[in-house]
Amino acid sequence: MFTGHLDEIFFSIQGEGRDLGRPHVFCRLGGCPLRCVYCDTPRSWKEQKQFELHGCDNTQLVDNPVSADKVVEYLTQLLAVYDLSAAQVCLSLTGGEALQQPEFAAQIASLWPGSVLLETSGSDADAFKEIAHQFDMVSLDWKTRSLMSKQLFAQHQDCLRHAVSEQINTQLKMVLSCDTTELEINEMYDFVAALSAKLPIFLQPLTKVPKSPAPPTSAQMLKWLTIGVQRNLDVRVVPQVHPILEAR
Ligand code: SF4
Repeated sequence: MFTGHLDEIFFSIQGEGRDLGRPHVFCRLGGCPLRCVYCDTPRSWKEQKQFELHGCDNTQLVDNPVSADKVVEYLTQLLAVYDLSAAQVCLSLTGGEALQQPEFAAQIASLWPGSVLLETSGSDADAFKEIAHQFDMVSLDWKTRSLMSKQLFAQHQDCLRHAVSEQINTQLKMVLSCDTTELEINEMYDFVAALSAKLPIFLQPLTKVPKSPAPPTSAQMLKWLTIGVQRNLDVRVVPQVHPILEAR
C-alpha cells in the first residue's frame, strides 16, 4: 500500500466547473511546486507533519504520512457522519498537486467505490499519463503566464492530448485576472480548437486573495467569452461559488 502526505480532508459543495453545486468529499494532497499568485491554499505548498480532518463541527490533526487505504477509511467515516455512503459521493482529489504523489493518488482513486475527480495543474505530463486513466473525470488548470512566472504550456498541452486520446472525461479551467491578455486567451483557444472543440472550457475570474491582482471586469470576461463562442468552442464563465457560500 502506498503512503503519502495529505493537507486536509473535508466534505463540502463543489464550487467550480461542471460539478458546481454537487456534494463532494475532498482530499487535498500536500506539496505543490507552483506558486500561483491567486493561491488560496498556501499551506498545501509544503508537506505537513499532520493533516486536518474536518468533521461537522470539529477538526482533528492526524499524522502524515498516511496509507491510501487509511485515507479511504477516513473519507468513508466522514461521509457516514452525514448519512451518506462513499458510493453516493464523488471524491475530489485536489492539491497541493496530486501529480507530486502519483502512485498514492492513483491508489486512493482505485480504492474509492464512487466516482473520482482529479483536480490538477497539469504541470507534470509524465505523471499525468501514468495515472489519469484511474479517474472518472479530470479538471486541468491552464495557467497563464501573467499569473505565474513558470511557463507550463507544453505540459498542459501534453496532458490534454493524452486525456483526449484516451477519452478521459476532461474539463479545462483557466483562471483570469484583470492582467490577462487576449493573446493568452487566444493561445488556449487555438490549442483547444485544434485538439477538440467539444472540450468544456471554464473561464474562472480569480477570487481575490491579499497579493493577487484584481479579477477581470465584466466587460473583459464578456469579450473573452464572445471570442470563444465565435470560434464554436464549448466555453462559459463560472466564478468560484464556495467563497460566496462561505463554504470550505
Ligand atoms: S497549483 Fe494550486 S495549490 Fe499549487 S500554487 Fe497553484 S493554486 Fe496553489
